[in-house]
Amino acid sequence: MALKATFSANAPVELARITSHNVIGKLTGSKYPNETVSYGGHWDAYGIGPADAQGRTIRPGAADDALGLAAMIEIARKFAAGPRPERTLLFAAWTSEERGLLGSEYYAQHPLYPHETMVANLTLDTLQFAGPVKDVVLIGKGQSEMEQLLAQAAQAQGRYVTPEGHPERGLFYRADHFSLAKRGVPVLLDMALAGAYDLQDGGREAGERWLSEFTGKCYHQTCDAWSPDWNLGGAVQEADLFYDIGARLANSREWPKWLPSSEFSKVREASAETRR
Ligand SMILES: [Zn+2]
Repeated sequence: MALKATFSANAPVELARITSHNVIGKLTGSKYPNETVSYGGHWDAYGIGPADAQGRTIRPGAADDALGLAAMIEIARKFAAGPRPERTLLFAAWTSEERGLLGSEYYAQHPLYPHETMVANLTLDTLQFAGPVKDVVLIGKGQSEMEQLLAQAAQAQGRYVTPEGHPERGLFYRADHFSLAKRGVPVLLDMALAGAYDLQDGGREAGERWLSEFTGKCYHQTCDAWSPDWNLGGAVQEADLFYDIGARLANSREWPKWLPSSEFSKVREASAETRR
């Protein structure tokens, strides 16, 4: 029997066109300028919203992702002050991540350098401010050889690797690195939301406390704001870690690969053909 039903709806929609920009910096490689190692973070946040209990309306995005951008800028500064690496380094401050990875997706559709010549992308999105840690959280286990680079760099810092505690949140598919991963570029995401860290002061329990407090209360809200009691020792560890991994890739002939189990390995194989 055919079901007879009708439905009509009316929803007023306001459409506004907004122009926004990605900002990309570059240090040209001394020996292999056409091969790139890229860093990324997003500069947008949620902007103005409903007032909170204290009457605050601005959602500054201090940890998400001003901290990530600050780390990226310091990494760039350190590279710029030292001997120029052999491969080109790119530093991207993406726009509109919070609107669905729009800035990085735009770049991925209009790349400045062919994706097949991008060795890797390192994305910093949301760092923690609870202090130094004993481990690193690996997001996207089983995806690519980047996890070995992460483990080795972590070990050199005296840290161990903890696989992400909340794979069900799908963070590997939710930040700007994903726009490049889809095009076959091996990626590494540093994001404090993927699982509790083992804090030097207070261990995993203190890490869990920070994580549940931040995600439950301040994530994308007005209280994701700088505070004088922040301890950025852990964020500095992440910046050092990503500097080391980028420096290794920028001064080697390494081309990290996706693991055969990854859905992205086929894309890279196809695009690597054009590199040869
Ligand atoms: Zn966010």
